[in-house]
Amino acid sequence: MSSAVLVLNCGSSSVKFALYDPESQERLLNGLAERVGTPNASITIKYASGPRTIEDLAGTDHKGVLATVLDELGDWMTENGVTISSVGHRLVHGAEEFAESALITEETLDAVRRCSPLAPLHNPANIAGVEAAQAVLPDVPHVGVFDTAFHQTMPQVAYRYAVPTEWYADLGVRRYGFHGTSHLYVSGAAADMLGKPLEDLKMVTAHLGNGSSLAAIRDGVSVDTSMGLTPLEGLVMGTRSGDLDPGILAYIAGRTGADVDSITNDLNKRSGLLGLSELSNDMRELEAAAADGHEQAALALEVFTYRLAKYIAALAVPLGGIDVLVFTGGIGENSHGTRAKVLDHLAFLGFELDPEANDRTIRGQGGPITRSERPVALVVPTDEELVIARDAHRLAATANPDQTNPDKEVSA
Ligand code: ADP
Repeated sequence: MSSAVLVLNCGSSSVKFALYDPESQERLLNGLAERVGTPNASITIKYASGPRTIEDLAGTDHKGVLATVLDELGDWMTENGVTISSVGHRLVHGAEEFAESALITEETLDAVRRCSPLAPLHNPANIAGVEAAQAVLPDVPHVGVFDTAFHQTMPQVAYRYAVPTEWYADLGVRRYGFHGTSHLYVSGAAADMLGKPLEDLKMVTAHLGNGSSLAAIRDGVSVDTSMGLTPLEGLVMGTRSGDLDPGILAYIAGRTGADVDSITNDLNKRSGLLGLSELSNDMRELEAAAADGHEQAALALEVFTYRLAKYIAALAVPLGGIDVLVFTGGIGENSHGTRAKVLDHLAFLGFELDPEANDRTIRGQGGPITRSERPVALVVPTDEELVIARDAHRLAATANPDQTNPDKEVSA
């Protein structure tokens, strides 16, 4: 029998899951449950032999979905001699309570609940996922891995907003940052790719997906990031505005009568690339439309890359210069057009694009895309689930030394 780590990412209506071999760090399978809690719920499991989709899940909640997934995986695990030795949960907001991953106990869950007002959509769904998974797998250690934890090393000068101090002291209003597992993973992988110690590199990592954020990494830790109290701050994203004048809220409320919830919804769901283009939030579609002469799509791409480049350059301040720029996420890994535009804006910092390397570095490939070696720009495919699996395995060993192999160093 070999052991596997189950990685779970529970949203309000979806559950992403994956099984990892903790020794080889290979992903054994993965899948997605969608529209959980609705009549159209479905589960797709991607086995090496091909995908399998399960429907007829009407009335099933997170717990029911997880029970169905584990039931489905049961045969595969028996056939392959695999048992689940730990579960790693992606948890969105750990506020100042969590600077690292944590074994899930009742106290841990209480602390995650205390963070919920900061992420009212995400944390309750995450907690429901943990409770459902604990009910289905009560005998293995469960570990929480937080999106915010990696950025807890930011100094006060980076995380404080210039607002009344009691907002911070009483209500936790500060910058937290997100996408921590991705920034952590790609910074380590980039240093490995370059054959240099991470601690010696002044690095900006750009996670560019539907949500996008930057991290400034110095001495191997996050010293600044572009997202804030919520994932709305910073870069232009698929449907989120990123930075704007907070005075806009009162202006729109005054002019239209809209309330805070509806304006916040517009800033999260109807803004960004979608708002500018009035066409799509999807980079592929926008690139195709812009190439066909769609002016608003072209403008959306210009605003996206301009803001991105401006923000990358700003992070040279906390770093004292930039040695390495890493592109990751669906856009960072695939959109050579975005990368070329950003590096063109940043040529004054010494980045010199290698157009051929840039054009061929797509679909899960990594490597340098500049002729310049310092600063160098790299593409590094991210693997957030692997970070969760590694942490789950490492912390599970401290909870249950008999079931796992503490001799093997798998720490992130
Ligand atoms: P999420 O943040 O939801 O995990 P992803 O990291 O998968 O999202 O990124 C999604 C984005 O990546 C979309 O805007 C999509 O258009 C873009 N993308 C994916 N493949 C390509 C491609 N080949 N060229 C340009 N953009 C791409």
